[in-house]
Amino acid sequence: MNIHEYQGKEVLRQYGVNVPRGKVAFTVEEAVSAAKELGSSVTVVKAQIHAGGRGKAGGVKIAKSVDDVAAYAKELLGKVLVTHQTGPEGKEIKRLLIEEGCDIKKEYYIGVVVDRGTGRVVMMGSEEGGMDIEEVAAHSPEKIVKVVVDPAVGLQVFQARQLAYDIKIPGELINKAVKFMLALYKAFEEKDCSIAEINPLVVTGSGDVMALDAKLNFDSNALFRHKDIVELRDLDEEDAKEIQASKFDLSYIALDGNIGCMVNGAGLAMATMDIIKYFGGEPANFLDVGGGATKEKVTEAFKIILSDVNVKGIFVNIFGGIMKCDIIAEGVVSAARELGLDKPLVVRLEGTNVTLGKEILNGSGLNIVAADSMSDGAQKIVSLVK
Ligand code: ADP
Ligand code: MG
Repeated sequence: MNIHEYQGKEVLRQYGVNVPRGKVAFTVEEAVSAAKELGSSVTVVKAQIHAGGRGKAGGVKIAKSVDDVAAYAKELLGKVLVTHQTGPEGKEIKRLLIEEGCDIKKEYYIGVVVDRGTGRVVMMGSEEGGMDIEEVAAHSPEKIVKVVVDPAVGLQVFQARQLAYDIKIPGELINKAVKFMLALYKAFEEKDCSIAEINPLVVTGSGDVMALDAKLNFDSNALFRHKDIVELRDLDEEDAKEIQASKFDLSYIALDGNIGCMVNGAGLAMATMDIIKYFGGEPANFLDVGGGATKEKVTEAFKIILSDVNVKGIFVNIFGGIMKCDIIAEGVVSAARELGLDKPLVVRLEGTNVTLGKEILNGSGLNIVAADSMSDGAQKIVSLVK
């Protein structure tokens, strides 16, 4: 789960990570009163959307007066911001962070992630932080340094010190940077983050080390023990279909293609997407209905797939192990009837009660193309949507 920058900074502040003073604003009036309250000579007006790249896209404005703040707030609120992370459709700005301007001397990068290679938490840093970090990663990866954290002892002071030296934090500020990194790691660990990215981390004219941006991402499997974090969820920023799916406990991720997939088991779902791609098609979603799905759940899953306007056809690929094929078939039939399905539907069923399942489908009067195998099914749906 993602949260906004201003929320991330609030969480980090609780752990002693140094962040600028700031306030969220939903209206121009709130932006103005926040700016007056801050009373800083320079105020920054920052679009709050769940995507980075705002600076380059014009979503971060430097205001020299309260009038400037009002003008920028008016310009940004309600605007659709397109950044390299939002996709071409962009995201509507509904909140702003009104923050005190910072006298930046140099921008650095610090990121904490769960690294698959080492199976551990890794803190990485770069002396070339700021808005071009993707360039640095692509063209001069040697400028990104890493320390691997042993989970038994956590980030050690010597590691933070090493990282601070490696990214060339000025000598007199090393201790502040170390304190910053230890606090950041503590927040990451205690809040069960999957990403904590500070870009830029800055050294200021007055000799402070500070987070000017904060991207926190949380492991959704651990949210049950972080009620405070769950409260920060902004449903406006999430895909409506994914929210609906999570209500029914379905693992659904919307994608860009046009073949809707209904599958049970994450592994089979991945393999189904692969084989669709292999035969030249594009999956519209990842969907795992789970092992013990009910007819209602399957119906709901089907509705979610069909609510995607890009879907031109559906491929149902089910292995009935714990899940029975007849339950799937009933769900498919009832959803298709309810929604008046008029798109090609290819079904491949295998496993428990497969004969019964096929009977239900065949007797439904629906136009269903039966497939004998995964690759047969994938080829059929790919040619039907073309
Ligand atoms: P994004 O990563 O989405 O582009 P950032 O929060 O990193 O957004 O802001 C982009 C740039 O704007 C930063 O690299 C920094 O140079 C500048 N900036 C952001 N916040 C402030 C601030 N409080 N004071 C001064 N400059 C800022
Ligand atoms: Mg940034």
